[in-house]
Amino acid sequence: MAARWKDIAGHDAVTAMLRNMLSSGRMPHALLFVGPAGIGKMLAARILAAAILCGGGRDEACGECQSCRLVAQGSHPDLVELAADGSSLKIDQIRALQHEAALAPYYGSGRVFLIEEAERLTVQAANSLLKILEEPPEGSVFILTAASQHAMLPTVVSRCRVFAFRPLAPETLARLLADRGADGPRAAMAARLAGGRVGEALALLAEGGLALRDAALALVAALPAGGAALVWTQGTALDKLATPELAAFLRHLRQVLRDLLVIVNSCEELALNRDVAGELRRMAAAWDARRLDEALGAVRDAGRAIEGNANTRLTLEAMLIHLMEAAREGTGNADRRRYTV
Ligand SMILES: [Zn+2]
Repeated sequence: MAARWKDIAGHDAVTAMLRNMLSSGRMPHALLFVGPAGIGKMLAARILAAAILCGGGRDEACGECQSCRLVAQGSHPDLVELAADGSSLKIDQIRALQHEAALAPYYGSGRVFLIEEAERLTVQAANSLLKILEEPPEGSVFILTAASQHAMLPTVVSRCRVFAFRPLAPETLARLLADRGADGPRAAMAARLAGGRVGEALALLAEGGLALRDAALALVAALPAGGAALVWTQGTALDKLATPELAAFLRHLRQVLRDLLVIVNSCEELALNRDVAGELRRMAAAWDARRLDEALGAVRDAGRAIEGNANTRLTLEAMLIHLMEAAREGTGNADRRRYTV
């Protein structure tokens, strides 16, 4: 079953504008959907693409014609999706897209090019895309998604109609999750942890969805007594995670450390992981605010370095050593070994 507008949780103003463009036939040739990962940008882009290809001036794809069937199967020749090859979208990919864009549509109602994570375009690729956007082939629509427009070439952004996908308020998200069958306390917890992103909240509620959070908790619990073996085993395990999972793990790790910080500062009601409050309280006894701050900085720096293409394994090991040192200081542990990589 292809997705429908009603499957998008929240973002009412954005979807209303998109539907209005479809039914009025005033579709810009380039759109940019901006917002954090897991918020629904790609879902909206695919629903929009299906409606454009279905044609007929309706605000939603009919779901029954041949075009709609091909979209649902993921094999519509007029729908071209482009995602990063490794960590970036490269010039060769845009050149291939340029060739594609020059072809006439197979089904007559136009062609749609979906470019995911457009902030990953290299400068050359972005400049090459800019040339296409300046003189777009007749009937083609480019839908770009990005976490932030500030990481993109301003000239590319200026060629696009920008739509902002904002995180939902935790209460709104919790209500939506409850409507989809999550029980109250679990819905509230997922809404808090997901930072207002529907996709992320649904992933947390799925079977095993809290595994990465639990792994982050276990790591923080092991830090005060950790040694070289911890660096090795955790470094090996984390290095095996796919990029999005590693990013999610680091986010959970920051959230756990942040929860310890609010507990140390006597504001436990602000903790995100309230379902494990007892465990957090026990762990918080080994920390103080200054060292938690340092630990949070270490995790943030590691995340940035990995995003910036640093060696993942070495970055993670350096982070683990930094975390262990922060955990140990002031615990009265005489064994204050220092590690270097
Ligand atoms: Zn259709």
